[in-house]
Formats: sequence, structure tokens, C-alpha cells
Amino acid sequence: MTLSSLIDAALFACTMSITGRYILACWLYPFKPHKRCGGTGGHRGMGGIRLCHGCDGTGRVLRLGRRLHNAYTRVRHDIRVDRRRAQDRRRELDR
Ligand SMILES: [Zn+2]
Repeated sequence: MTLSSLIDAALFACTMSITGRYILACWLYPFKPHKRCGGTGGHRGMGGIRLCHGCDGTGRVLRLGRRLHNAYTRVRHDIRVDRRRAQDRRRELDR
């Protein structure tokens, strides 16, 4: 084993560790505090305290990884539903 391949293996292990921890964080804590309002859900505006538009006053937003996961899950679900409908249509035509 050369030094270069050892460094590559260490780099790969480090990247996988960071990715794994981020995926775990997205699964355990899908929301993070909204940066613009600091997680308070409001800000001072004209006429007093107003709800934050970025987080709709919740003070929380979905993590990027969780948004990507949700989009992927939604697309997979839509594909499955389309396939099922196509199968049903084929069955109807076969009768
Ligand atoms: Zn906010």
C-alpha cells in the first residue's frame, strides 16, 4: 500500500463519516433555526413585531439534505403512482 492510496483511503473515510453524520442529523433533526430571524419567527418591522416571511413565523426551516430527500421521495412516489395507473389502464383495455 502506497502513501498516496493510504491518504486517499483516509480522505474517503473522512468524507463518508461527515456525510453519514449529516444524513443522521437530517433524519434526527430535520429542521434548523431560520438564520434571518435567528429562530424567533419574528422581526421588528413597521408597527411592532411581525412574523418572519422566510419561515412563516415558525423560526424553523428544513435542512437542505431533508429538502432533497423529500423531493426525491416525492418523485419516487409520483413515478410509482403513474406506473400503477398505467397498469390499471392496460388491465382495463385487456378486458
Ligand atoms: Zn424566520
